Amino acid sequence: MMKTYAIILAGGRGSRMQTDTPKQYLDLLGRPLLFYSIKAFADWGVDEIVLVCGEGDENYCRETFVEKYGFTQITQIVVGGKQRYHSVMHGLSVIPYGEGIVMIHDGARAFVDQATITNCYKDAVTYGSGVAAVASKDTIKVVDTDGFVKDTPARSSLYIVQTPQTFQLAVIKAAYERLETEETFLLEKGVQITDDAQIAELYCEKKIKMSAGAYTNIKVTTPEDLVMGEMILKSIL
Ligand code: C5P
Repeated sequence: MMKTYAIILAGGRGSRMQTDTPKQYLDLLGRPLLFYSIKAFADWGVDEIVLVCGEGDENYCRETFVEKYGFTQITQIVVGGKQRYHSVMHGLSVIPYGEGIVMIHDGARAFVDQATITNCYKDAVTYGSGVAAVASKDTIKVVDTDGFVKDTPARSSLYIVQTPQTFQLAVIKAAYERLETEETFLLEKGVQITDDAQIAELYCEKKIKMSAGAYTNIKVTTPEDLVMGEMILKSIL
């Protein structure tokens, strides 16, 4: 086994949830949502967890997840940035260069199952990357800013991308360091950076591997996701 790190992202403010409490700390069956994401990686046996939280949440996270729930795998708690990719940069910056595998995970995907983590890990060892994804069940349209259809890509080639997004450590660190220097250029070109694979696609030589994810690996984003999440949690606990 290579040394494994999980970067668990909980630095977002979750404005689409319409609550004062950031969504990752909302209660679900008596525990904060983020508890379940951390537990999934702890149960899997990851060596180290870097928890990325919002500014001012560091003490709450230490008291809750390290002290109260005893997740000793959390070795560092760092503050996130403006965009998700800034939070990833902050997480990666505290992991030293070396041999290893990094799993970058949305804290809001609290129902990730063990098989998905294993699939991503194995692909990252073999191919350099393993990104959880499921085939799209729905037809996806490309639309213009006025809501009119521009294109209908073939459904069989479309995947819904999830997390963990897993990479060999040196490869993803180098890719994110390059992003740091080219961020302004990309933004000026109108590129929206929404996942880690995208950075690897831009700056890594190897092709990025999609790994088998799960339809239950949802990201809690809007209030109805909590209802769905509770059902998923009851079925897996
Ligand atoms: O906003 P979105 O749902 O895409 O966020 C995905 C994950 O990234 C969430 O777990 C959120 O807390 C995290 N995030 C972050 N820093 C940001 C924005 C989002 O850590 N600036």
